[in-house]
Amino acid sequence: MLNIDKSKPVLVTGASGYVAGWIVKRLLEEGVTVHAAVRDPQDPKKLAHLNELAAVLPGTIRYFKADLLENGSYAQAMQGCAIVFHTASPFKLDVSDPQKELIEPAKLGTRNVLETANKTESVQRVVLTSSCAAIYGDCADIEKTPGQMFTEDVWNTSSSLQHVPYAYSKTVAEHEAWAIVGRQSRWDLVVINPSLVLGPGLNPQATSESFNLVRQLGNGKMKAGAPDVGFGAVDVRDLAAAHVHAAYLPHANGRHIVSGHNTSLPGIAATLLPKYAAYPVPRRTLPKWLVWLAAPLADKSTTRKFVSRNVGYAWRADNSKSIRELRILYRPLQVTMQDMFQQMIDSDQIPRR
Ligand code: NAP
Repeated sequence: MLNIDKSKPVLVTGASGYVAGWIVKRLLEEGVTVHAAVRDPQDPKKLAHLNELAAVLPGTIRYFKADLLENGSYAQAMQGCAIVFHTASPFKLDVSDPQKELIEPAKLGTRNVLETANKTESVQRVVLTSSCAAIYGDCADIEKTPGQMFTEDVWNTSSSLQHVPYAYSKTVAEHEAWAIVGRQSRWDLVVINPSLVLGPGLNPQATSESFNLVRQLGNGKMKAGAPDVGFGAVDVRDLAAAHVHAAYLPHANGRHIVSGHNTSLPGIAATLLPKYAAYPVPRRTLPKWLVWLAAPLADKSTTRKFVSRNVGYAWRADNSKSIRELRILYRPLQVTMQDMFQQMIDSDQIPRR
């Protein structure tokens, strides 16, 4: 049983996002007052799903306008909060200016939120949504990793502004968070490092990059086959539980790999075939040389260096700390994938067959 103190509000940054939505839902179910920080509190498209939840669940939601790049803009939202869930950070792969679009909001945004925590007496704990991308940059990194297994002790040293800048943004942001927490002792930091997040969105028109990937499994873009890119995968509902447990289990500390399954692109596609055989889900694994030749032509954000260092490597991470210390029970990958795929068909993001 979690001992949830319902008398104090909590702040969720980026509350309009895919991952944050499920965290807010869990908190509202528990009767917590959620201060939801969003860029535009007037945008009905981004907030309708949260309003619908708040109308039927015991908790209360209050919106606050805030932007990662406006210093001090989270101060009002954080007032009186015991816990801060810092989830806001851009998750997109196709960017033209990675410094402005990814690194600055991730790093300066983390600094902005945590420095506000320093000034807000009520804050006791910050739960930061980092990523497995702060642990590894390329699948090939596994070859230099002790025991050929990613763990919480490992940091991404292979990403840069030029190479996999999203992973670089998550790495510099998490480093920044550890540096800031280390300079004080009133609040503590618990970090969640999710692998690729999958599963249905509370807002079916979610903009997270997770949806772009699954869309390609159903819209015919990968009907010739999928490259053998390895990664971990976690259900968004399990990830929300991990955040809430990280907030309210007193012993929670440090980093946590939150990843239910070591898998790959062909691996997640295979989970769809038993139910969605009528769809152009990739059935073949493309040879690496073909991916190397074709990928940069098909998608400008996929470089040949990325293909060389990510195709054909098995991805393995140790999720035992999350099971032991955050008490996470991971649901089967097939359930996650089929729930998400079905939602994307029902919301016309994947053409119905
Ligand atoms: P998402 O739906 O795109 O959520 C990102 C959130 O960040 C949105 O609420 C967005 O606000 C907010 N945001 C972006 N730039 C901002 C800015 N300048 N000021 C204020 N808010 C800003 O993506 P997600 O998948 O839920 O990602 C949430 C977190 O999980 C991120 O930290 C991401 O790095 C992490 N993560 C995701 C995955 C995954 O596979 N999805 C895996 C590991 C870690 P708007 O709604 O206003 O755009």
